[in-house]
Amino acid sequence: MDNCIFCKIVRGEIPSTKIYEDDNVLAFKDLHPVSPVHVLIIPKIHFANLHVMSASEEGLKALGEIYRALPEIVRLVGLEEKGFRLINNCGASAGQSVMHTHFHLIGGRSLGTRIL
Ligand code: AMP
Ligand code: ZN
Repeated sequence: MDNCIFCKIVRGEIPSTKIYEDDNVLAFKDLHPVSPVHVLIIPKIHFANLHVMSASEEGLKALGEIYRALPEIVRLVGLEEKGFRLINNCGASAGQSVMHTHFHLIGGRSLGTRIL
């Protein structure tokens, strides 16, 4: 996708602070962190959102690759023992602002017991 900012990050056309990369998955620091650790985990292939992604075999495979990478990403940011929250905003009501599926990995402080 030519104009997608996360595809541009995958292609190296926009700088990012990479935390983890493999053939299918990229994790990099969020530009506007909400917690001491705030990393975005994305598939390298473009899917507009999680709903679209999980409706195709290719998307389900890419989701599996993200979950396969998750333990290593969590280890790299030092949240193995402390724990973390993994968030996906899907669509307008959820406030999704970048239309390339991404998971927010946040932690490094107490996040409370409520989601909102
Ligand atoms: P969402 O609201 O779930 O779509 O989240 C989009 C996230 O992408 C926000 O937390 C932004 O801070 C983050 N973001 C947008 N552009 C960049 C960028 N170039 N590098 C890193 N994070 C970004
Ligand atoms: Zn994209």
